[in-house]
Amino acid sequence: MKLKDLGEFNFINRISKAIKLSSQVVKGIGDDAAVLKYTKDKYLLFTTDMLLEGKHFYKGSSAGLVGGKALSSNISDIAAMGGIPKFAVISIGFTGSMNFKYADELYKGIRKVADKFSVDLVGGDTVGSNKIIINIALIGEVEIKNLALRSKAKEKDAIFVTGNIGGSIKLKHLNFTPRLKEARFLVKNFKINSMIDISDALLADLGHILEESNKGAMIYEKMIPVSKDAIDFDSAIRDGEDFELIFTLSEKQADRLENIWPFKTKLSRIGKICNAHKGFSLIRKSGKSKKIKPTGFTHF
Ligand code: ADP
Ligand code: MG
Repeated sequence: MKLKDLGEFNFINRISKAIKLSSQVVKGIGDDAAVLKYTKDKYLLFTTDMLLEGKHFYKGSSAGLVGGKALSSNISDIAAMGGIPKFAVISIGFTGSMNFKYADELYKGIRKVADKFSVDLVGGDTVGSNKIIINIALIGEVEIKNLALRSKAKEKDAIFVTGNIGGSIKLKHLNFTPRLKEARFLVKNFKINSMIDISDALLADLGHILEESNKGAMIYEKMIPVSKDAIDFDSAIRDGEDFELIFTLSEKQADRLENIWPFKTKLSRIGKICNAHKGFSLIRKSGKSKKIKPTGFTHF
């Protein structure tokens, strides 16, 4: 069987099933970052992301933006756990014929994001490659009480999303601000039952919360904020790399949140969590409800 027939998520499930974990691992594969025992009141978070020329960016893409994206996408995963990013290692594949200025610009982009979010760049690896590859691994930390997983969504929770959805391929996927300050505000002031960042799509990533939490959901077309760059609503909810947060919390907490949200970043209440056997449905502007598949970007 070919990998593309198995699918990205079945492949990851296979890996996950075959792995035995020590008692120091609180959460291994299956969330935005691994969660590891650390101190009496903090966990370590550990995540990695890889960018490939021709897939995530192109020869003509600004090197500085590509570098910034490589670190920002990792910071977005730490934010989605409720944590603070701390230390990164950077592995690079470069072609020998490449102008060294490209590498300088790429690192400038990484440094800019690292400075902004107080991340220390502490190492990496360099190899020759016929395409440019960037892989960053990032360690973060989170107070045990503030950890937000994908797997703890509760029935009747309100579902929220930050920012606007869709069309990120135009520009935003290379130039976005990870929602770190928003995520930290949320976990410090509210009981966030579940959280994820959008890398695959609004539908697919809310789908990950539903699967890990064993729940269903109803979402409302009229509440979902579509970016002006999106083609239309139906593609916006299936577009990848929004790097916004989806999170859920109790209705009571949700009302308070809507009253005190202090950021310019848009906040939208898009639906609610329900029992798993109700499935996943979208309520159209017309009021019609239809079952919906948690589809989005997959690598193969
Ligand atoms: P995200 O989009 O949040 O970065 P992914 O969809 O890339 O998450 O990954 C989902 C989960 O699968 C994560 O827990 C990640 O660590 C794990 N994972 C992905 N690829 C691999 C792999 N090759 N080996 C082990 N775990 C993997
Ligand atoms: Mg993620």
